[in-house]
Amino acid sequence: MYIFSMTIVMMTPCLVSAHSLTPWAALYTPERAGGNFQFSIGDFYHPPTNYVDYYFENSVARNNFLYSFSDGRDEWGGMIITNETTFLDRAIFKIQYNPNIAASTAAYVECVSPSVGHYGPGEISTKMVVGNITNYSQKNQAQVFAHELGHVFGINDLYQVNDNLSSIYSNTYRYPSATQMDRNALYICLDIPWYYMSGPDRRAKYQKAPGVWARNESIEILGKLYTFDADGYVIN
Ligand SMILES: [Zn+2]
Repeated sequence: MYIFSMTIVMMTPCLVSAHSLTPWAALYTPERAGGNFQFSIGDFYHPPTNYVDYYFENSVARNNFLYSFSDGRDEWGGMIITNETTFLDRAIFKIQYNPNIAASTAAYVECVSPSVGHYGPGEISTKMVVGNITNYSQKNQAQVFAHELGHVFGINDLYQVNDNLSSIYSNTYRYPSATQMDRNALYICLDIPWYYMSGPDRRAKYQKAPGVWARNESIEILGKLYTFDADGYVIN
């Protein structure tokens, strides 16, 4: 499941303020993934919120993948909300079916690079191209879509450097849903960079800027006050 970073002509300026993934991508490279950071951020344009409008390019694509796509979205545990639209000027990405892409590629996402901000409605330059996976189980199809949807938001592949990380970007079919590490990556892409420990230890940390953790302080995040200890864990 390749992600192609295409250099495309600059789009018209967006109305929303820019949340650039560029500094995050510089910190969270695929090569450094491991340990506490089993994810990587891509230097891409990305949707401004977790709510995205999209459309299927044609009825064949829709008939093939409508349900497996929504199942894949749900593998993010409610973190991503998608809305199928027929109003193309609202859509942020489209889903295309092309059974003729390489047999080894289940699907890929074409993004704009580098990231200087957000897509505006109707600036469709992100395409999710789905290959010949109609013979996959619905669960495997959903896993493909969960993986590709994270690419739309700016998460990078990891399998080239390490196929044994706790991530659907390292091994798409090993996990029934997005892992905690994948979700930590998505929080960054959504500009709410909470970081949750995996497993039974669910303690949370917060990055004020790439690599700058809230520590020994109280800060307000989205209107709520949080206090962090010396190790950066939220204590209330
Ligand atoms: Zn991928």
